[in-house]
Amino acid sequence: MSSPQSNEHKVDASWIGWFVGNKSNEFVCRVPIGFIEDKFNLTGLEYLKDTLNVVLEPSFDRSMAWVSGYEEKLYGMIHARYIMSARGVEDMRLKYEMGDFGSCPKFYCKGQKALPVGLSDEWGHSTVKIYCPSCKDVFRPRYRPKLDGAMFGTSFPHMFFMQLPMLRPQPPVEKYAPRLYGFRLHESALMPLESSETSTETETETETETEAIGSLPTSSPSSFPN
Ligand SMILES: [Zn+2]
Repeated sequence: MSSPQSNEHKVDASWIGWFVGNKSNEFVCRVPIGFIEDKFNLTGLEYLKDTLNVVLEPSFDRSMAWVSGYEEKLYGMIHARYIMSARGVEDMRLKYEMGDFGSCPKFYCKGQKALPVGLSDEWGHSTVKIYCPSCKDVFRPRYRPKLDGAMFGTSFPHMFFMQLPMLRPQPPVEKYAPRLYGFRLHESALMPLESSETSTETETETETETEAIGSLPTSSPSSFPN
């Protein structure tokens, strides 16, 4: 605070400032220091004190060798908890309205804004996906696919719309209908062919069945069709 040379420009030099400001971390919001310092919010998380100290570091020098690399995981797991809180939902609402999370790629969703979601609550399982609240499906984000999905968790979009029900969008009114020369195709015309490997021996259904059972232990034990 009293350092005389810090008057040139007011740059946020904290670790959080650096991490959140990183272009590839656009999905991530800033977790308040007070939330991280509250031991209750860290219950059940495994971390080293040094890692926590780096995350809380107000003047972070990223060239320092002692940075372990576990900071992102610790911050990410705290972030997943924070965005489920009322204040966190509010922070994420601002990002959602700014379109920071991108939009649904489906044509009939008409650019519906998306929310980040994880397919697992555990670290290291999969990268972040985006959830469209209109068609209720998940997609790979066009950019920033490197963040761990656990930083957002599996419940976040649903908590978001539970707290902000007025933001729930309508489902898409139109749906693509496959047609051939103007006629709608029956569902069965769109189904994949069943086991195309047996296409050489089409006629003898009962014979191939018994043969397949007979040859099961020697040839392909795992790919027996049911
Ligand atoms: Zn959609």
